[in-house]
Parts: sequence; C-alpha cells; structure tokens
Amino acid sequence: AVQNNPNTTLVTPDAPIANDTHGGRAKCLQRLKRLDLPVPTTVALSFSAVHDIANGHLPDIRAILDQFPDDALLCVRPSSEDPDWGGPSAILNIGMNDTRFETLCGTLGVDAVSALYNRFVQSYAIHVDRLDPDMFDDVTGEGPQALLQTLEAYERETETPFPATRAEQLAGVLKSMARAWEGTSARLLRQAKGAPADAGLGLVVQQMAFGVGQGESGSGVLQLVSSKTGMPQITGRYLRQSQGRDALRRDANSLFITRDPRGPSLEDQVPGAFAQLVDHARLMRVKLREEMQVEFTIENGYLHILDGVRVSRSSRAAVRIAVQLARDGVIPRQEALMRIEPRTLNELLHRQVDRHAKRDILGSGIAASPGAATGRLVFSSNEAQASAARREDCILVRRETSPEDIRGMHAASAVITERGGITSHAAVIGRGIGLPCVVGVSDMRFQTRKGQLMTQDGRVLNAGDIVTVDGTNGTILLGAPEMQEAALDDAFTDLMDWADAERDIGIRANADTPADAQTARNFNAQGIGLCRTEHMFFEPGRLTVMREMIFASTSDDRRAVLARLLPMQRADFIQLFKIMQGKPVCIRLFDPPLHEFLPTDRNGQRELADALNLPLSDVTRRIEAMMEYNPMLGLRGVRLGVTVPEIYEMQARAIFEATIEASSEGDPVVPEIMIPLVSAKREVELVRARVDAVATTVAMTAGAAFDYKLGVMVETPRAALRAGDIAQHCSFLSFGTNDLTQMTYGLSRDDAGRFMSDYVRQEVFVEDPFHSLDIDGVGELLQLGSERGRAARPDVTLSLCGEHGGNPESIAFCRNAGFDYVSCSPFRVPVARLASAQLAI
Ligand code: PEP
Ligand code: MG
Repeated sequence: AVQNNPNTTLVTPDAPIANDTHGGRAKCLQRLKRLDLPVPTTVALSFSAVHDIANGHLPDIRAILDQFPDDALLCVRPSSEDPDWGGPSAILNIGMNDTRFETLCGTLGVDAVSALYNRFVQSYAIHVDRLDPDMFDDVTGEGPQALLQTLEAYERETETPFPATRAEQLAGVLKSMARAWEGTSARLLRQAKGAPADAGLGLVVQQMAFGVGQGESGSGVLQLVSSKTGMPQITGRYLRQSQGRDALRRDANSLFITRDPRGPSLEDQVPGAFAQLVDHARLMRVKLREEMQVEFTIENGYLHILDGVRVSRSSRAAVRIAVQLARDGVIPRQEALMRIEPRTLNELLHRQVDRHAKRDILGSGIAASPGAATGRLVFSSNEAQASAARREDCILVRRETSPEDIRGMHAASAVITERGGITSHAAVIGRGIGLPCVVGVSDMRFQTRKGQLMTQDGRVLNAGDIVTVDGTNGTILLGAPEMQEAALDDAFTDLMDWADAERDIGIRANADTPADAQTARNFNAQGIGLCRTEHMFFEPGRLTVMREMIFASTSDDRRAVLARLLPMQRADFIQLFKIMQGKPVCIRLFDPPLHEFLPTDRNGQRELADALNLPLSDVTRRIEAMMEYNPMLGLRGVRLGVTVPEIYEMQARAIFEATIEASSEGDPVVPEIMIPLVSAKREVELVRARVDAVATTVAMTAGAAFDYKLGVMVETPRAALRAGDIAQHCSFLSFGTNDLTQMTYGLSRDDAGRFMSDYVRQEVFVEDPFHSLDIDGVGELLQLGSERGRAARPDVTLSLCGEHGGNPESIAFCRNAGFDYVSCSPFRVPVARLASAQLAI
C-alpha cells in the first residue's frame, strides 16, 4: 500500500514527510492536516520517486489511486524544496472522461462540466503531449460544442483517442511533470534563482474540490496582511464557479474579500466561510510561524483548504511581517533578524521604482547609489542649480563628476555619469548624500556639450526630457514610472534596535558635512569613522582662498592665507562635534593633490589671475608646473603634510580649538586625527611631532586640557606590510580599502568602470573589487596589517573605512579579523547594522 512506500506517501499528520525529501508544498499540507484544517486527501511523491519517473520508472499508480474515492477527480501540483524555484504548472481534473462527464452533468449542468472537461483536455494536450496550443485556435464558443471540437482536434493531431482512464491520465501527467523539471531550461531558470544543480522535485496528488456546483461554489485566496506594506489588512480574491487560481486572473470577475462599497464581497455573500477562512489563516500564521496566503475552494457551501503559501511581499512588507511576528511572540527576535536580507533594506531607505511599474530602459551602468528619482535632464552643474532654484527636479548628466560638481549634485535629484566605477567621485558623493546614482553608463552616448544622450537603439534625449534614474539596479528609464516611497517606520526602528542588541562589531559612518553627520546620527551610527576634510574647501568663498594658498610663494605667506581658512574649518568641526554629541569623530587630514583645486579652463584661469592680481601667463605656468603624470600616486596625502606642513598645522589647530569649544558646551569631545596615504613610519613621526606641538600651543593659549588620538590610514600596500612599525606611533589603524584595492591591483578606481563589466562577465574578477572586498588579495593585506599592528600594539583600534564598509561579506571578513568597527556611507549604516547582527547570531 501507499503508506508502506516512503516514495509515495499518504499525507497524514504523522507520515514521514520532510521539506528536503518531499518539498515545501507536501510539508505544508501535512502541517495543515496537523492543524485539522479541511484539506482534501493528498498523496505526496518524494524527490526520488519523481526522479525515477523521469527515468521511466513509474510508481504503482493503482496504489496511489486506491487512496481516493473511485469517482474522485484529481489534481497534481509541484512541490520543490523552495517555492521560489518554481516547477511545472499544476494540472487539474484528472479522471475526467465521457462516463464522468455524463454523471456530473446531472448535478452540475452540461455547460459547467463541458468547460471542466474542455480545459482538462487542452491542458493535457499542451503539457503532457506537448502539442502546440495553436491546434485549439479553431475551437469556438463554449459548452458541449466546444468540448467536441477539442476532442476531435486532439484525435486528429495524435491519431489516438483521448486517454480514457484515470490511471492512464495520472501516469501521463506524472511523467510529463517529472520530465519538465529535469529539462535544461527549467534547470537553468531555477539555478538562476539559487537552486542547486541537483535540486529535487516532489509532486502532490490531491483530490479535487470542485469550485463549480449548484450551491455556493468557487475558489480564491486570502491573506491577513498587505503584500505591499505588510500592514494588517485582509485581502484576496474569490471567484464563483471557478477552479485553481482563476480568481487571480486580471480579467476575472472576482468578488472582493472583505465588505466593500464597490461591489459584492465574500464577507457579505458567504459570511460563514469568510469567518472560517480568517480563523484558519490566523491559526496558520501562528503555527506555521509565517504570514500565509490561504488557497481555498468552496464546494456547495463547504470550505476546503487546498494549500498555504508564503505571502509574497515587498522588502518593506518583509520587515513589517518579521517584526510583527516577533512582537506577537510567534518567532524570537533573532529569527526576525535572520529573515531579512540586509541589502533589501536599501529599498526602505530610499524611494524606489514600484516593483510592478512598466520600465522603458534607455541605458544601464553600475548601480552606484540606491534609490530612484525622476527629473529633467541637465548637462552641467550650473543648470542643475538653476533647476533647483526653479524648484524643478533634475537629473545631472556628466562624463564624470569632480569636486566642482558638488553643488550641482546637491541640487540634482539623481546623477548619471559615462565614466567611473563604484568608488568614483560621483558614486562616493551620491551614496554619502543619499542621491541615486548610476555610473559607467557605457551603453549610451554622452554628448554633454550638445546636451544630448543617445541610446543604443538610436533614440535621442535632449536637455529637458524627463527620465528616471534607478540607482538600485543601475538603469535609466524613460519618463516617470510609478514610485514607492521610503518607509522608515516603527517596524524598521524596532528591527534596528534588535540588531544592535546582537551585534559585536561597531558601525560608524563616513560623513563630511553636517547633513551627513545628521543622517549618521539618525541611523544610529556609533560615530564618524571618516570625515574627508577636503570637501570643506570647495564651499563657496573658500575655493579662492585655497587657490591663494596654493599660489603663495613662502611659508609665511601660506600661513597668512591659511589663517583665513582657520575659522571656517573650526566652525565646520564645531558643528560636527555638536551633532555627534560626544560620539567619536575621526577627521582625516587633507588628502587630494593640490592641483584639483585649480581651474582647468582658460576662463577660470583668467578669473584666478584677476583675483590674485597676477599676469595670466604666470598663472598658467604655475598650473602647468604642478601637473603630475600620476596624480593619485603623486604629491598628495601625508606627502603634502610632510612637504607643505602649514596645511596640516592649520587643520590640527582648527580641530583642537573646536574640541575645546564643543566640549565647553556639551559632552567632552575626544577627536581622532587620521593621516592619509602613509607608506613609511617616518612620515607618521614627522606629522605626529607637529600635531603634538600644535596641541600643546592650543591648550596653553586656551588654558584648557583635552585629549585626542592620532591614527594612520592604511591604504598603501606598504603601510599594511609595515603596520607593526607604524602602529608604534599611533593609536589606531583604519584600512582605506579604496586606495588599497587600487594599489594592490594597480587598477585605477576612476577608470576601471569602463571595462569592469567585461572583466566580471569573463570571470576574471568574481565581482567588482571596489564593490566587494577582494578577500584573497586585498584581504590578505588586511589580515597581515591587522595582525602586525596588533602584535606591536595590542590596544591599537582597527577599522575599515573604504566603501566596502557597508558590504555584508566585507563586514564578515573584518569581524573575523577582529576589527573594532567598520565605517560606511550614512545610508548604508542600517544594512551594516543588520548584517553584523546576523553574523553574531
Ligand atoms: C580609501 O582610500 O579607502 C578611503 C576611504 O579614502 P578615499 O576614498 O577618500 O581615497
Ligand atoms: Mg584613500
């Protein structure tokens, strides 16, 4: 008998059925049986039974049929281990033949039964005999006429009559479903969804509940929450005189589920069944520990539960559902945390293109900063600012952005660039300020001077045209598709609080401006891990002073100009310290090459000559003289600190004076000062001596005491290798994995975007190493550097502040290597908090 064969098992509360032997559907149906829900008789076929069927070995069909009443119609549905892996379509009404047709006509009426039979023959022909659906094109009308035409078409095509017995039909269906699963395209499809190559398929054979009949009959689905928001809301569809998932068809004339002024509903037409369904759904939620969609059929007023499936859900709904289950004590908080994929939080933090919106894709590139925004195309930062002044949303299009574009980026709703990768200027700034951004858009032609973009299929877009940038998946869309708003609600806050209670690695934010710092605070970052000070010099009014400083010919002149910048820097730091309320703030001293601050075009140079009262030729000559062949490997970072010490002295003074002022009003501040681009310990010694001297002077002048920490950014391979030497001179090491990746690979972070997709496609790199930390290479340097640094100075604080800080895999690596914290863009802080909690659970 069936019960004795583990491969074909009658589904009873205690039959040996498991997810990984019979699939999720079979297991779920067993759970429903255990809850004593009205589930029709079901037999489950195991993965191995189905595998055997695909190889030509049918199970004992008679033994299966013995479990069902002689005249019952059956359906077969797939049961894979994970419902998301899909499976062949269900086949309903197996057992229908001329004899059953006659008897059923007596009770259901000839039209209803003809429709059932017709549908069965057609789906059998298409799925089992794999005939072309076109062969039924000539079948017209409904009722017995149509049925006759269908049966004739079948016979014509196959040259055999339609299989008449239930056994024959069931065998055919089982064979076709088993084979469909083993087919190449089905395998590729499910592997793309994460299924292993040898994923099995189970099948369930279930007695049909009709859904058509003389009393109240129909089928539908019901769930207790909204799939879009996860909020409690009974929703679903019910279609009278229907089977399967007919009620969900777009054109179906379904009833509403709950009472509705727009039309009849299940609740008021069939109140008893409605109340039972809601009770069943509530029971399923608690016992199956999940929000379930109930699939049901009503047959002559009697309710059957055919199945329960996990409610489909947006990322936002997923958070609400998990949190609410934990709040209600149905699952522990840790499980709620584990149920949310950290990256999907991005969809809550930003506006998104609605999942169901139609997308007309114009081009694509690297998804550099998540979220979506719609606006009119503009091709310069000035135009972006002009748009903002008119309160018009705009999309800034640039070949690449430079520090001069910062104000334009702040004015725009999104940015797209032709060049650049995940750590290019546009990408870093975009993530920092929460601006959707797509970089390295290589499949569109950028004609920024002309104000045009051209798509591969020849469409031309002009300044003023409306497009939407989807920074979450890296596409540019025509027009204004429907959006879904950000959702930082109480469920999100609870989830984040629970994550903080679990995690054991610190999370800070990279923040340069007061606005960034505020975002970091709002997302509960534990401090600022990297404040890049150079952005402060691009503020209006400061750039000219900066240029004067660069042009100063003596150290004294330079000091005099820097003295004018000092109060501005001090004010910046006071603001940051105040916003962070005593939490640590790590300030990096000036990093970029100086020539980035100089005008590149003739007009700008002329203006500069005017401002400095110098002949134009002097200005151009000086600018040319400062040009470097490899500026990123040239005079920048600590090299400037060593050779032009006045800049770091001014910055140190601004930091210390701000420390005294902010501490006098609020929590005591202990600033952290970080030296960039170090490659030798002597660099640290030299800078340290000067910074210490400034600290002594400031403390004496103000008559106030304060503490501070000095640390080194490890972003050259040599600094990682020599971390032991270096750690002796500083209290923290922060790994700057952007430059470290660039220098380890010898791969320009600003140019790699152009060929990165080729490299990933051809599997040279598994992923863009600027995006996901290269554990094998760069990771080895981190490992060595952290070990050597710790060995030399056991209390040294270790951290990572490159763009990888927000990446879950990179956080896992840092946690294993014993890092104290990671620092990432403010908007990635929630992702990092959740990812690190999951690592600790
Ligand atoms: C780094 O190099 O990793 C870093 C954080 O600094 P930046 O991106 O400013 O070079
Ligand atoms: Mg760097």
